[in-house]
Amino acid sequence: MTSDRRLWTTCVDNNRRVRGLSFNTAISIVVTAVIVTMVVLFLPSSPMESVRRTLGLGSERGLPARPVEDPGGIFAFAMTQPGSAEPVGWDPCRPVRCRVNPANGPDGGADLIARAVERVSAATGLTFEDEGATDERPFRAQFVPLGTDRPVVIGWGSPAEFPELAGDIAGIGGGAAEEGVLGRRYYVTGAVALDTDVFTTLEIARRPQTMEAIVLHELAHVVGLDHVNEPTELMANTNNGQIDFGPGDREGLARVGALPCA
Ligand SMILES: [Zn+2]
Repeated sequence: MTSDRRLWTTCVDNNRRVRGLSFNTAISIVVTAVIVTMVVLFLPSSPMESVRRTLGLGSERGLPARPVEDPGGIFAFAMTQPGSAEPVGWDPCRPVRCRVNPANGPDGGADLIARAVERVSAATGLTFEDEGATDERPFRAQFVPLGTDRPVVIGWGSPAEFPELAGDIAGIGGGAAEEGVLGRRYYVTGAVALDTDVFTTLEIARRPQTMEAIVLHELAHVVGLDHVNEPTELMANTNNGQIDFGPGDREGLARVGALPCA
């Protein structure tokens, strides 16, 4: 049986270099809030109607999750539980399995990913399990038997393979959720595709922290965060050089990592 209750949320991120600045190390990352793909195949049963609406696939178009503000920062969840502001996240009692596809990756790319995964793990409390290399492409395995998970696939790609990476876009990242036995939704897989035009060996050598921050941003999508309109957060729509999570990012990540076990 293939998945019929899975929904993807994917973010496309823009990495535009600003030229002509007074010092040549200046870099500006413009992260554009675009939710591009939400692939869902549903059973026609009524409980899923609310999901359809949330995704804008039903007769009524829902609103995106509202950002949650607190004095320490701002964050937004990519998906929330039906009828609730509670986020969709990974089952915190099981490791998030990951595989990296090294094809076309730059020198230092694997280390960059490993460090970013460690940082997301620290911020969420989630455990990540590296299951080694794969030749599977990101975003290609959308059909998995219900009730199972499969590794997050992180890889490098070009706009020819991922049209969303055209232009200045640096990466896409997202997760797919499934409804568990008690009706609560959990992520069961995810993917990150990083643009080979942006992640060159030279660029990683020159700006390792910035490049790592982009991977960090994409992984934060995978674990459940959406963009926010706040420039001091790493999940900002427009980023002008953040290399670490902001206070809202950290709060949001802590919350998606602190859900009840499936
Ligand atoms: Zn993003």
